[in-house]
Amino acid sequence: MSPDASVDFLIVGAGFSGLVAAERLSNAGFRCVVVDKRSHLGGNAYDRVDAAGVLVHDYGPHYFRTNSPRIVEYLGRFTAWQDADYKIKSYTDGRYWSFPINLQTFEEIVGRPSTTEEFEAWIEEHRVPVDEPKNSEELILSKVGRELYRRFYEGYTLKQWQRHPRDLDTSVCGRVPIRTNRDDRYLNEEFQALPKDGFTAMFGRMLDASPGVELYLGVDFHEACKRWRHRHLIFSGPVDEYFGRRFGALPYRSLRFEHESFTAEQLKPREPISNKPGFWQPAVQVNYPDAEVPYTRIVEIKHVTGQKIDASTIVREYPRNWTPEEEPFYPVPADDAKTAYRRYAELAAAEKNVSFIGRLATYRYYNMDQVTGMALAEADRLIARYSPAPHA
Ligand code: FAD
Ligand code: UDP
Repeated sequence: MSPDASVDFLIVGAGFSGLVAAERLSNAGFRCVVVDKRSHLGGNAYDRVDAAGVLVHDYGPHYFRTNSPRIVEYLGRFTAWQDADYKIKSYTDGRYWSFPINLQTFEEIVGRPSTTEEFEAWIEEHRVPVDEPKNSEELILSKVGRELYRRFYEGYTLKQWQRHPRDLDTSVCGRVPIRTNRDDRYLNEEFQALPKDGFTAMFGRMLDASPGVELYLGVDFHEACKRWRHRHLIFSGPVDEYFGRRFGALPYRSLRFEHESFTAEQLKPREPISNKPGFWQPAVQVNYPDAEVPYTRIVEIKHVTGQKIDASTIVREYPRNWTPEEEPFYPVPADDAKTAYRRYAELAAAEKNVSFIGRLATYRYYNMDQVTGMALAEADRLIARYSPAPHA
């Protein structure tokens, strides 16, 4: 494409937000260019086969889940689904615990079989009554009391966010279910599955079904704006970056991922891990709330991808402070961060021919199904607003 080419939509970011928007808009007859500064598509949901042959999620585990049949139907146009049983453990005080907190966790604590009634009576006795919890600490204290809060939440949250749970919204620790029955699934949503051949393959098919969309990897937003004249910009990068951080950088949390692969020989069952043959740990994810352990969790994604392979790969996640050189993985759900974001949101609302969509551009701790819904809704609005320019 020549340097001064003209398109309808210039889309920055080839993650869920950008690619869903591109698919919808191109099928409505618009000319779209998608750019991403990274060397691959998929954004943080990118997965790949590593040197050991294992399908891995490069930027932390991506457990697809949703309560929206519409989102399942839409994404299902580009992938078959593999049922996924997202079950995890917590490792603290030198042993594994059933997690999220459920009746089995209580039985492990009291060291004998119990009942929902007994666990609920225990909670009633231990919980700290708070009428309207205002932060993550108050929320968990009000649900299960101090002992379980200390054991499973306080250390993990401090490590992950380098903030105390009392300085984070209820929505942070509130993401994790707490149950008094034996249901030990990590998530509550009705639909829990993974794209059968992985996210990257799904995105590839989405692009194949997007007539004329051109994808340019390794291209930054500023360069793209110089290269393509456009009627409208769709931006899914960090909103503060778009505005040159003129009010200062928004707070983010970053991560470092450490991958380690094992051969079949190294994956023989061993105590006290109690791993199944072919796996390194007993569940797809083990959380480490203890302060002495530098990582928050270890993920062995082979447990849920359904891949049949002798080797396996684990990924340790080390939380890091964010600097402009790091990936801004998490917006920080806290009052001070929301106040700082509001100033950028006002600037964004005043931009006439720019849409801000996705996790970073709207500074929201959104899951994949939520950003897909946001991109679909924005594409509908844009289709109603613009009519396609005749193709050159
Ligand atoms: P991204 O995927 O972040 O895509 C934005 C893209 O824009 C990136 O590829 C980036 O390189 C590009 N970009 C940014 N700035 C520029 C620029 N200046 N120029 C060019 N390109 C730029 N969701 C779930 O539903 N389930 C999970 O289990 C889950 N686990 C997660 C675990 C981790 C560790 C993280 C970080 C997120 C997780 N998520 C999960 C959230 C999920 O990643 C997001 O909801 C989703 O990927 C957001 O898509 P997006 O397109 O909005 O953003
Ligand atoms: N959390 C915790 N202990 C755990 C798991 C989660 O305290 O064992 C808290 C922590 O603050 C975390 C939040 O709950 O950031 C949300 O957890 P989730 O696993 O949903 O985080 P994500 O996968 O989004 O990183």
